[in-house]
Amino acid sequence: MAKIKVLDKNMINMIAAGEVIERPASVVKEMLENSIDAGAKNIIVKVEDGGKRLISVTDDGCGIAKEDIPIAFEPHATSKIKTVEDLTAIKSMGFRGEALASIGSIAKIRIVSRERGAIEAYAQEIDCSEKGPVMPTSSSYGTTIEVRDIFYKLPARRKFLRASNTEMTHISEQFTRIALANSNIGFTLIHNNRQKYHLLPTDDVISRIRILMSEEIARDLVSIEAQEKDVKIKAYIGMPANARSNNKYQYTFLNGRFIRDKFIIHAIKEAYRGLIEPNKHPVAFLFIEMPYDSYDVNVHPSKIEIRFDNPSLIHSQILSIIKEKLRSMELDVVSSLDNITPHNSNIAAEATISRSEAIRRERIKDAMENFFTKSARPIKTQGKFNFSHQTTSCANTNGYQRVSEKTSIPHYNTNSTQDLVATKSSLLQIHNSYIIYQTPDGFAIVDQHALHERILYEKLCERLVRNQKPLESQKLLIPETIDLTPAQQQVIEDNKDTFDKLGIDIEAFGPRSYALHSFPTLLKDTDIKSFVLDLLDILMDSTVTPDAEKLLHSIMDMAACKAAIKAGKPLSNEEMAQLLKDKELVERSSRCPHGRPTTIKFTIEELEKKFKRTGF
Ligand code: ADP
Ligand code: MG
Repeated sequence: MAKIKVLDKNMINMIAAGEVIERPASVVKEMLENSIDAGAKNIIVKVEDGGKRLISVTDDGCGIAKEDIPIAFEPHATSKIKTVEDLTAIKSMGFRGEALASIGSIAKIRIVSRERGAIEAYAQEIDCSEKGPVMPTSSSYGTTIEVRDIFYKLPARRKFLRASNTEMTHISEQFTRIALANSNIGFTLIHNNRQKYHLLPTDDVISRIRILMSEEIARDLVSIEAQEKDVKIKAYIGMPANARSNNKYQYTFLNGRFIRDKFIIHAIKEAYRGLIEPNKHPVAFLFIEMPYDSYDVNVHPSKIEIRFDNPSLIHSQILSIIKEKLRSMELDVVSSLDNITPHNSNIAAEATISRSEAIRRERIKDAMENFFTKSARPIKTQGKFNFSHQTTSCANTNGYQRVSEKTSIPHYNTNSTQDLVATKSSLLQIHNSYIIYQTPDGFAIVDQHALHERILYEKLCERLVRNQKPLESQKLLIPETIDLTPAQQQVIEDNKDTFDKLGIDIEAFGPRSYALHSFPTLLKDTDIKSFVLDLLDILMDSTVTPDAEKLLHSIMDMAACKAAIKAGKPLSNEEMAQLLKDKELVERSSRCPHGRPTTIKFTIEELEKKFKRTGF
């Protein structure tokens, strides 16, 4: 007996709906995209019960002609593409012509639409694909689509919907993505008659981020704009210190469409390499504009995944602009003394100086300067109030003024990049691990190991990555011999070029041992044998994940860590001065390659507070 039957249209739609419409948030996304495609300037989304009872989207877009209303709900009905060529350069958010057909097959719909310039509006009701007549009605220009009781005829699907709060979280996320991508459009989101967001059209994306995310996120964003060939990128990136434990605060938009792309995620992460801890994720909002025909959105029904014609170009562009920006910023960690307890490392309290903070400090400085000019005999150097001479509390409390005859620590009224001009004589090492020096507005503590590690890492990077040159090496007077397992020997044979790059000359020497003839000069203070053994470990692991770039970075990490001055090592004044001098020459010196800070700054204000001197 024949068993195969062609499914009726209704069934086909319902099955298709499964692909596009997963939950109320998918309906919101599809309808918002339609409104945007219709050229709306204002869109209102009303939701009840997490969208399970009602989702309604009202726009002031172009509207739908009376005779098109029933067609809009037919499968594969779209006004957005006409030819196969159109598919290769999709400019609209939608194009598959399946959203309304899908939505119409799984819920009760009422559509009201009035075309721009039309005298009348028309309405139609559709109940799970069953269409009522198109009737005239009154309404302003634009379209309203109400979707009620989603999946009500499909108990199996309805059962999978979550609590209304959870569904609302998904809706908010979709709303957020679309609102961020279209800041020139006004959006309102209302849940159970309560307004959640009311966003006016704006040119200022950060103000949208402030409302949709938080003040805290928005405050620290730095903007970047760049254009290379026909790719334009606008980015708002967060400070390394504010990196998050997940990548929820990374949004990428391509020509107004929210996308997730592994190349882009990787590029962002890579740009912060060494500035944040490996398990942290930077905050970043990226707006990319590029020709519509240089990528394919028709990869997945949700259109979140796209395929770039040239993914590595996008990757390198994003990586370089973010890296460049981070490099140009002052990222030293500023600490608050309030957060220091004997067991509390300062890392938790870290925050980098933002521009507003810098301005605030400048004001405090000015105020102090002012105060001292008025209240006591002024002590001024080079026109600026100078902390190292100050005798604030005395002047402050009883007008008595004591001037220290000789300030042991020289001071510099210069900007921050010259902070550490603090000279040799005034450098102080404590616990054989930390170096303390004076800065124009306070003092700084450097972790000698972390800083040296960063310096070495950058030097390695400079030579191996940026200049693509092998490390300089020096011949060992007496070759070191190392016993190796057959597996380790194999690794050496397989990675000859890596050893060459590192300036390590290692040759077989007898059945089980190898002889080291030369070693990189930069790493000369390292325990040579243990370095080679660690290197072999890394290379051995890398056969599982052969990513050349990652491999090189883990080798540099390891090398820098091994060769760096250890905590606990006493340093001479000259050594400390050299280290701090190198700090200035090296990029991103404020953090070690693992993202831990190398330098923590304290302001004199903090000290004043601690010593209760801040009575003015
Ligand atoms: P697609 O967006 O892929 O074209 P849809 O099923 O989402 O397919 O919509 C079908 C058609 O209905 C669209 O091509 C458009 O012409 C029309 N349409 C849908 N929503 C609106 C709207 N809010 N305003 C104007 N036209 C709309
Ligand atoms: Mg659509």
